Amino acid sequence: MRTPFVVGNWKLNKTIAEALALVTELKNQLGAVKGVAVGVAPTFVALPAVAKRLEGSTLATCAQDCFWESSGAWTGEVSAAQLADAGATWAIVGHSERRQFFGDRSDTVGKKARAALAAGLGAIVCVGESLAERDGGKTLAVVDEQLDGGLVGMDASVAPKLVIAYEPVWAIGTGRTATPGQAQEVHAHIRKRLADRLGAVAADAIRIQYGGSVKPSNAEALMAENDIDGALVGGASLEAADFIAIVKAARSA
Ligand code: PEP
Repeated sequence: MRTPFVVGNWKLNKTIAEALALVTELKNQLGAVKGVAVGVAPTFVALPAVAKRLEGSTLATCAQDCFWESSGAWTGEVSAAQLADAGATWAIVGHSERRQFFGDRSDTVGKKARAALAAGLGAIVCVGESLAERDGGKTLAVVDEQLDGGLVGMDASVAPKLVIAYEPVWAIGTGRTATPGQAQEVHAHIRKRLADRLGAVAADAIRIQYGGSVKPSNAEALMAENDIDGALVGGASLEAADFIAIVKAARSA
């Protein structure tokens, strides 16, 4: 059985004070929640304070990205080991906004994922097609290419610390969600690809999150699908009540 994992990706939102206010409410209401794993991904500057506030709870602090080198002349970058030192236990890599605006490619996403794992972090590897790619019938080919790049150098031992987030780009921040059936079709495909690459036991254990306009109103139906094991939540993670409702929906599904 896979424990669903719901992560709030706060993106470029919230001052440190606002981040602490939100996370304090989440800790109070979800700090002892059972049957679902929960994480939040604040900005790098808020991450140490958030991690400290979450001490003593089951909520995880996640980074929104990490760099693949551990030190050196890489102005502006933050290494996976530094994020672990700051209190992170997971790193999101390959988010579509990073791919679209910051030049992340499948090979560099793979390097970031490997660096996260080497630093002892879990890696949430994001994959997903654009609207043009979906309309062109390329969804599965795009996901395969992104997944293969993300998995380079990995074997079955990564399963507990590897999460795949399927996030169709056309559903991120648009209010347009994939239907549970559309999402399940891609999730099942990803699991099969994971089995081909890492073996059936690992593929069965790896959690595959759905992301793209997840809200309290659609979360339960999405997460009721066999291969949807939680969610990566953007906009709806910025309000405690919405995020808590999504976490509870994941648990009841
Ligand atoms: C995301 O950015 O990972 C995301 C899924 O955003 P939203 O929930 O706002 O669509």
